[in-house]
Amino acid sequence: MKNISVIGSGTMGNGIAHVFAQHGYQVALIDVNPAALEKAIAAITKNFDRQIAKGNVTETLKNSALANITTFTSIAEGVKEAELVVEAATENIDLKLKIFTDMDAHAPSGCILASNTSSISITKLASATGRPGHVIGMHFMNPVPVMKLVEVINGYSTEKEVTSTIMELSKAIGKVPTLANDFPGFIANRILMPMINEAIYSLHEGVAGVSEIDTIMKLGMAHPMGPLQLADFIGLDVCHSILMVLYNGFGNPKYAPCPLLTNMVTAKKLGVKTGEGFYDYSGGSKDLLVSKSFS
Ligand code: NAD
Repeated sequence: MKNISVIGSGTMGNGIAHVFAQHGYQVALIDVNPAALEKAIAAITKNFDRQIAKGNVTETLKNSALANITTFTSIAEGVKEAELVVEAATENIDLKLKIFTDMDAHAPSGCILASNTSSISITKLASATGRPGHVIGMHFMNPVPVMKLVEVINGYSTEKEVTSTIMELSKAIGKVPTLANDFPGFIANRILMPMINEAIYSLHEGVAGVSEIDTIMKLGMAHPMGPLQLADFIGLDVCHSILMVLYNGFGNPKYAPCPLLTNMVTAKKLGVKTGEGFYDYSGGSKDLLVSKSFS
């Protein structure tokens, strides 16, 4: 496999493009928004510079990787030579169904169509194509150049050879692939999101403050980051929408988003990306919001 297209050049798409390009693949990076593509190339360059400063990659590797990336604003143009397309557009089912139909119409017949979705059914996405056996989930973790895991998700019709190709490809780019079947939230978010929701409930019910909840999980459970900080990092809107997928998918009220999470999303306090969530990021780093502290 040589030619890989990535659809969506936001947080995840630029990281996925970065890693494939770093490992010598020709990457077509596609986004409807030209400004997002410019931002993506700037982010990839900055992330390579960070890796260079740590001594993990060379300037030569950075330059060859950047030369491996070509940008497109049209899916039809960007996927026409692809052997694999990884879709990493906004987490919205109608949008993704439309993109899968477009990918299917324009990518070569043997091309594998993968989605980086956090929670949407792979079987559902496959139903928008005429090649359900060639559709699979390839769920990278954020930040993609740093995190080792790829959660590979088999849809109902995913062919065995397609799964083994994606498992091998994930290893070839330095990742550890782990296989899951197609259930709401797969493995990662089925376990992570109820924990984050419970942390928000603990705050909402006054069990403890932001700092206490995060400290307990960091020092008591050896998590590198507390669940409230992690929720800010993921984006509270993203957490909310994944919980709704679990809630609707299983029909179980235990997955219902905490009212505090719903309120914060409605108030556009989405975490790092809007400058405020459980912490205040307006100063460029993480500060405790006094109003949310316990004492
Ligand atoms: P993002 O908002 O940062 O980027 C999404 C990009 O998709 C934007 O640049 C947008 O312009 C582009 N886009 C929208 N419609 C498009 C279209 N029709 N064609 C091409 N591009 C289009 O989102 P993100 O955080 O990178 O998330 C992308 C996907 O990755 C989602 O499915 C999300 O659930 C998943 N994911 C996110 C994280 C995370 O921590 N952010 C982790 C794992 C998986």
